[in-house]
Amino acid sequence: MSIPVVRTVKEVREYRERWRKEGQKVGFVPTMGFLHQGHQSLVKKSLSENDATVVSIFVNPSQFAPGEDLDAYPRNLEHDLGVLAEVGGPNQSVSLVFAPTVSEIYPSGIPLDVASQKGAFVNVVGVAEQLEGKCRPAFFRGVTTVLAKLFNIVEPNNAYFGQKDVQQTIVVRKMVADLFFNMKITVLPIIRAESGLARSSRNAYLSDSVKERATCLFKSLKAAKNEYKTKHECSVAKLTQLVRQTIESASSKFTIDYIAFNDPDDLHYLESIDASVGCILSMAVYVPNDFQDQSKGTTRLIDNSIFGPLRG
Ligand code: AMP
Repeated sequence: MSIPVVRTVKEVREYRERWRKEGQKVGFVPTMGFLHQGHQSLVKKSLSENDATVVSIFVNPSQFAPGEDLDAYPRNLEHDLGVLAEVGGPNQSVSLVFAPTVSEIYPSGIPLDVASQKGAFVNVVGVAEQLEGKCRPAFFRGVTTVLAKLFNIVEPNNAYFGQKDVQQTIVVRKMVADLFFNMKITVLPIIRAESGLARSSRNAYLSDSVKERATCLFKSLKAAKNEYKTKHECSVAKLTQLVRQTIESASSKFTIDYIAFNDPDDLHYLESIDASVGCILSMAVYVPNDFQDQSKGTTRLIDNSIFGPLRG
């Protein structure tokens, strides 16, 4: 049976009302589409924990700055429905795909220039300014605004997020707690290709040889975690150097945006890892889409690893 796709808030609310009357638990997986195995793992978990699962597919303009890849971002609903159909089984599949238009979600319009935006926006202060927020100042305001809207539309019992966007998980948890959204957030591990490259919709921009070299992100995370775990190396300067070398030796055409070690709860920057707490190591790296053809542009890849406390 094919998965129903709806475009309007009204239609989602009709489904939601039916599920409420039937006492069904609702899981929600918000996405920007061009789905892959990372998204599938979230959907699988939702199917296993809920009676109904809603997946939203919406490339959210307000989290893109002018000049970023909003227009180029890959969109393919047919592909996405195929990927969703692979998840579950004969008696269990996604109940509903919500693929709204921009004007449905932003009735007041949504220019990319923040200064000329009108309407209601959600800002989470304290964990949204560092890391991704430093490089992309309006990014989390866009993410939390669209998620608040989607949570109010879908009213899920559970929502599922990937550790791939680790800062997002912290920002979203904070928003849900502080604004009393009546739902539980579950975070699931990063799904990687066999090579180690974290699955991402933006990998579609990359040539095979760039994808191969870009495995250095994962290798650098592994190398640093190994130093921490086996040698109890806690110096951020030393671990950063190791990460930097691993990435720079993979290609002189890779440009590191940041490598950072942060507290796992409040994301403050660390100079030394407290081994009784651990940390989040995260990075963003610009890679060319094609080593041979500069005109194809660059992609900004992100990856991270959570270092737990050391015992013994
Ligand atoms: P996106 O479509 O990129 O906005 O991602 C939608 C959700 O899928 C977010 O919660 C992401 O963190 C999650 N996600 C994306 N890529 C992966 C991955 N490789 N592994 C696990 N979760 C992922």
